[in-house]
Amino acid sequence: MDAVAAAQVLSEIGYLLRQNEAERFRAKAFAAAAWSIVLSRPDLEALHKTNALTTIEGVGPGIAKVLAGVIETGQSSYLERLRADTGQPARDDESQIDLSQYKGDVHSHTKWSDGKATMLEMAQGAQAMGYQYLGITDHSPRITVVHGLGAERLLEQSREMADVQSKVHDVTLLQGIEVDILEDGALDLPDAVLELLDVVIASPHVKLRQEPTAMTERMLRAVSNPHVDVIGHPTGRRPGSRPGADYDFEAVFKEAARHKVALEIDCDPARMDLSPEMARLALECGCYFTMDADAHAPVEFAYVPMAAWMARRAGIPQDRILNFLDVDELTAALH
Ligand SMILES: [Zn+2]
Ligand SMILES: [Zn+2]
Repeated sequence: MDAVAAAQVLSEIGYLLRQNEAERFRAKAFAAAAWSIVLSRPDLEALHKTNALTTIEGVGPGIAKVLAGVIETGQSSYLERLRADTGQPARDDESQIDLSQYKGDVHSHTKWSDGKATMLEMAQGAQAMGYQYLGITDHSPRITVVHGLGAERLLEQSREMADVQSKVHDVTLLQGIEVDILEDGALDLPDAVLELLDVVIASPHVKLRQEPTAMTERMLRAVSNPHVDVIGHPTGRRPGSRPGADYDFEAVFKEAARHKVALEIDCDPARMDLSPEMARLALECGCYFTMDADAHAPVEFAYVPMAAWMARRAGIPQDRILNFLDVDELTAALH
């Protein structure tokens, strides 16, 4: 049992506990322990042997006990019980995801908007992960609090990108944007700008409580825009703090499939959006997916394995996930 696999178990436990309001603090603790393990990748067997699991940040005695069970048996009876209690399919993972074949992340932020690291640091981080490519997708102008990028700043950014690219050879940088889906489904940048970019992620960030009919129209319009490649965190939910937008998911997912617009499994721990349940519906609607960390610092690339358990639980085959494509195949798919 390696650290990543154990972290996935704790993450799923935290995720399922969150469905019960009374368990929200415990849910938080499990999630925090999972992120701590996936970030620090400790030698769990060694720590278990010396009874030292609680030396891992975020791991108290209760979580250490669950973790010990996972290390000894490769599974968790606690997780099995939760799956049954929460009506999750009590069956094994339904698809194989081989993370060693993950080629790159298409959704990340830099100091150009609300990221905490420079583009060079992010590119070097992606290189350290062995990625073939990295999508640099800062926010669009509407997100004023984070200095979203309009046409002019995107042009400036492309100059910096050329410079960074000349320093980081192994990773192909894709210039992109995380463009806001406005209330009426129009996008926060003109088509003439979007068509110049390598990757366009359209995301709902504000007015998520729109009534479902309007929200459906909004999302349908966004997925129909020919420049959109991916819908970022498609519901905007924040597990444990706010529900996501409500719309006719089936209609929107089917339209996304028709336009070959991928849906994101955003594994930022605060989002985990699409959820496994929603991703399963999207799969049935014929959708493709991306598995992205939505990283705001290089260390956050470590989140990706958390998307893998979500994809497995949704039964998504690896060939439906764009991040397993080589860079040439990916750029062709993004057209
Ligand atoms: Zn976003
Ligand atoms: Zn983002």
